[in-house]
Amino acid sequence: MSDDRKGSYRRWLERSSTTTIFVYSALIIAFFPAFHFVLGATPGVPPDSLALRVAAAAIAAAVSLALLVAPRLRRYSPNLQLLNVLPTVIASPILVVNSGNNPSYIAGSLILAIGVQQAFYRTRDFVIVLATTLGVEVLYSAMRGVFFTPANLNALALTGSGFFVAMSAGILRLRVQRNERELRSIVRDRTRELSEANAKLEEMSVTDPLTGLRNRRFLAQHLEFEVSAALRRTGDVPDADLLFFLIDLDHFKTVNDTHGHNAGDLVLMQMRDRLREVFRESDFLVRWGGEEFLVVTRSSRRHDACDIAERARAAVAQRPFALERGQRVNASCSIGFAAFPFVPYSPLSLSWMQVVALADRALYLAKERGRNTWVGAAAGRVEPDALAERLAILGIDAFHDGTLEVLLPK
Ligand code: GH3
Ligand code: MG
Ligand code: MG
Repeated sequence: MSDDRKGSYRRWLERSSTTTIFVYSALIIAFFPAFHFVLGATPGVPPDSLALRVAAAAIAAAVSLALLVAPRLRRYSPNLQLLNVLPTVIASPILVVNSGNNPSYIAGSLILAIGVQQAFYRTRDFVIVLATTLGVEVLYSAMRGVFFTPANLNALALTGSGFFVAMSAGILRLRVQRNERELRSIVRDRTRELSEANAKLEEMSVTDPLTGLRNRRFLAQHLEFEVSAALRRTGDVPDADLLFFLIDLDHFKTVNDTHGHNAGDLVLMQMRDRLREVFRESDFLVRWGGEEFLVVTRSSRRHDACDIAERARAAVAQRPFALERGQRVNASCSIGFAAFPFVPYSPLSLSWMQVVALADRALYLAKERGRNTWVGAAAGRVEPDALAERLAILGIDAFHDGTLEVLLPK
């Protein structure tokens, strides 16, 4: 059988129901002995002549074929194919040449033929049919007292061989299947390991190694989604804003210079914890640069921004940071912030990156105002359409001429 044919046969078997194969096999097992018996009982026909056997084989083959092609019968066996006649085709010559007038011998050779055909595909089904038939044969011949006749022993040997062939094929197939299963499970394991490693790598690529906070890459990947969500919600719900807080440690260089770089690292790691105290789990905490953090809060209200900034400022300034050997150091931070959409009734007038740039200018102002404080930028008295252009021209002066409203601690 070519690989192609074998493939389609296997596919067919996979589709066809076990019942259909059972019924069909049982039918053709019954055909030959039935016809042999009927013809043998016909007056004038010599028992077990060559002509008798040829006739029985021919009728059995014809009925098998009829089952396959007759439209009425075809209805009950929609999955049958020409290949299922194979048992009859294999068995017929064996029977014609060898058969004594012995039903068990005849059944045995048919079963052997079906066995060879089916064993590679449905060993389990076949072994059941074969074992049953073998049992019936043994019982039948024992009851008739013909168990030890040469023809019967031949038949049993033949059926036994069929059984052996089927079992061997089955064992072989099981072994192949087990190997396949093992291989599949190895592939599955490797695939899982690989995707876990990939996920870890992906996680690492968006994480800052020192603090475990998100990095700029993460923000680039996730912010567009948040921005479109915020734009969709604008006008519908009151807490639709994204708030951008830029938080920079004050005189951090001094911490490094006085206590060493390791001490600086310790402060940065504790900064992470303080930020986590103030902000929500769903907010984006990003290490923006060396000692500078960007926090993006989602589903917020711009009116809450001043309170949040004050809480963040206080969380840093109100208690010292722990260094090695029980040492402590006081630190403070300056904060600049702005909301997106910057102009609620004209949400597209500034992009989120322009809003971050405004927060940066506000941060600069907070440094200028003596540090350990915050400054917020909100829209002032200017046409939203002209805003971007005016900001580009004015730079930091936009905070002083009314283009921007400056939010300061009371
Ligand atoms: P300012 O109040 O104006 O922000 O002063 P500053 O000293 O904080 O700012 P400056 O930009 O002059 O210095 C930032 C310092 O942060 C310099 C750099 O050595 C330190 N730094 C940046 N990244 C790290 C880091 O990962 N670990 C440590 N220990 N220090 C860092
Ligand atoms: Mg600094
Ligand atoms: Mg800085």
